[in-house]
Amino acid sequence: MKKVQSFSALHRQDELRSIQQERFDLIVIGGGITGAGIALDASSRGLKTLLLEKGDFSSGTSSKSTKLIHGGLRYLKQFDFWLVKEVGTERAIVHQLAPHLVLPEKMLLPLIEGGSYGKWLTSFGLKIYDLLAQVTEEDRRQMLNKEEALQKEPLLPDEGLNGAGYYAEYRTDDSRLTIEIIKTSLNLGAKALNYMEVESFLYDSQGKVCGVNVLDLHTEEHIEVKADYIINAAGPWVDQLRTRDGSRKGKQLHLTKGVHLVFPHNKLPVKQSVYFDVPDGRMIFAIPRGRVTYVGTTDTDYTGDPDKVNTELTDALYLIAAVNNMFPAINLQLEDIESSWAGLRPLIHEEGKSASELSRKDEIFISDSGLISIAGGKLTGYRKMAERAVNCVSKSIAEKGITTKPCQTDKIPLSGNAFKDFKEVSAYANQVYNKLKPIGISEAKAWSLVTTYGAQADQILDGMDPKAEDVQWQLLKAELEFTLKHEMVTCPADFFIRRTGKLYFDIDEVRKYLEPVLSYFRQKLEVPPETIQKWEKEMQSEIQRHSEFNPEQYTS
Ligand code: FAD
Repeated sequence: MKKVQSFSALHRQDELRSIQQERFDLIVIGGGITGAGIALDASSRGLKTLLLEKGDFSSGTSSKSTKLIHGGLRYLKQFDFWLVKEVGTERAIVHQLAPHLVLPEKMLLPLIEGGSYGKWLTSFGLKIYDLLAQVTEEDRRQMLNKEEALQKEPLLPDEGLNGAGYYAEYRTDDSRLTIEIIKTSLNLGAKALNYMEVESFLYDSQGKVCGVNVLDLHTEEHIEVKADYIINAAGPWVDQLRTRDGSRKGKQLHLTKGVHLVFPHNKLPVKQSVYFDVPDGRMIFAIPRGRVTYVGTTDTDYTGDPDKVNTELTDALYLIAAVNNMFPAINLQLEDIESSWAGLRPLIHEEGKSASELSRKDEIFISDSGLISIAGGKLTGYRKMAERAVNCVSKSIAEKGITTKPCQTDKIPLSGNAFKDFKEVSAYANQVYNKLKPIGISEAKAWSLVTTYGAQADQILDGMDPKAEDVQWQLLKAELEFTLKHEMVTCPADFFIRRTGKLYFDIDEVRKYLEPVLSYFRQKLEVPPETIQKWEKEMQSEIQRHSEFNPEQYTS
C-alpha cells in the first residue's frame, strides 16, 4: 500500500525533505490542468511521480478559462473536425468522472440577421457537433423559432432575431477540477508541491535530463530532485523552460490573452447561458452563475510578461460594448463590473494566423536532452493530452524492456465524487440544504458547497459550529479548515482565489472576511506578523486589480 502524501501546508516541510531523498520515475513541471492530468495518468500507470508548481496549483491559465467543458463549436468553422470530435467526446467522460463539478449547461445560440451563424449553418453545424461528440438523444440540439428563443432568453433583441440553436455543454470550475485531479493522483501515490519553481535542469553524463534544481518560494531554499523523465507542462511558460533546457527551436508558443468580466446577476439578468455575436465577427459567452453573470472572452495577441496578465480598460470596454449590443435592454457600465480575470492561451504559433484563427490542438516536443514538453490544447481535453504525454514516457520505458499499464483515467472517479450521476448530485445537494436551512444558510450556498467540494461537503459540515452567531463565517471557516488540511492552501490568496473562486464570484465575502481569515492563518500556521501584513496587502491589491476600473478614463 502506497503512503499517501499529506496535502496540508502544516506538513509541507516534511514533504519537501522527503522528495529530496527519493528518485522519481517522472517529474511534471506545472500544476495547471495539463500537469495535473499527467500526474494522475502517470501515477495510475504505476509511475512514481512528482508534480512541481511555481505558484499555487492552477494559478496559471487553469483558473482563468471560460470554465466550460465544451466541444468548441467554433472549431467546426475552422474545419477542425478531429478537435471537435475529441473534446466533444471528452465532455461526457469528464462529467462522469466528476458529476458534481462538471455540470450540464444548456447553451443558447441566437440567430441574428447578418450574424456569424445563419439558420441552416447552425442547424447543420450543431447536428455535426452532436454526431462527432456522440451526444445522447435527450441532449441533441434543438432549433428554436423566434418566440421560443425569446422564451428561453427574454433579453434577446426582438429586432433581427431569427430564432436560436439550443444545445448541450458542461460548465465547471477549472481550478477545482485541477485540484481534484491532483488530489486523486496523490491517492495513487503521486506527490505534488506548490510554490516550487523549477529553475534549471540536471543532466547525466550523456546530456540527458535527470532532475531539476528547484527554488522553494516560501522558504527561498534551493533543492535538487532527481527523476528518469521530465515533462514540461508549464502552459504559457513552456518556452521559458525549453530555453532553460537549450532546446527552444522549431515550433514556438503563441500566447493570446482572454478576459472575462463578472457582473451582479441583477445587472445582467440572463436566464440562461448564451453564446452570441460581437460586431467584429467574434463570439462570446454570457453565463449566469449563482449571484453573478460572467461574460467572455477576448482573444488578443500577448507578448508581455506571462506573470503579469491583467484585464485592461480596453478589454473591459470591448466586452461591455458587446453585451450592450446584444441585449438592448441592458446598459452595463464600467462601474457595474464586480470582478474579472485575465489569462493566456498557450497556443502553438502558425505563420500568418491571427489570435482567434490559431488551432487549439496540443503538440508534444521532445528535445535532444529527453525533456518532453506539451503545449496547446484545452481544459476539456486534459485527459487525452495527459495520455499522449505519458505514452511518450511509457514508450521509452518499453525500449528498456519494461511495460507500463495503458491509460485508464477514463475510469478513475475524481476525489469528491461519490455519485453515479447528476441526479444523485442533486439529491445530495438537497440533503445538504436540509441540514443548513435551519441555521439560516440559503439553498444557493448549499448548492455552491456541493458543486465545489462534492461529497467532501460532509467533512466541511462536520467542521461547523451551527450554534455560533455568524453562521456564514462558521461555514467559511470550516471550508478554510478543510482546504488547509486537505488541499495545500498556504495563504489567503490560495483560499479566496483558487480553492473557492470567491474573488471572482463573491468578492464582497472576500472583503468581509479577509480579517478573520488572516487571523485564522496567524493562529494555525504560526506565521510572523510581517507575513500577515504581506498577505493582507497582497489580497487588497488582488481585490483592486480584479474589480476596479477607472471610469474617468472611460469618459475621456
Ligand atoms: P497552466 O494552467 O498555465 O499551467 C501551467 C503551470 O505551470 C502554471 O500554473 C505555472 O505557474 C507553472 N509553471 C510555469 N513555469 C514553471 C516553473 N519554472 N516551475 C514550476 N511551475 C511552473 N478550455 C476549455 O476547455 N474550456 C474553456 O472554456 C476554455 N476557456 C478559456 C478561456 C481563456 C480566456 C483561456 C486563456 C483559455 C481557455 N481554455 C479553455 C483553455 C484552457 O484554459 C487551457 O488550455 C488550459 O488551462 C491550459 O492549462 P495548462 O496546464 O497547460 O497551463
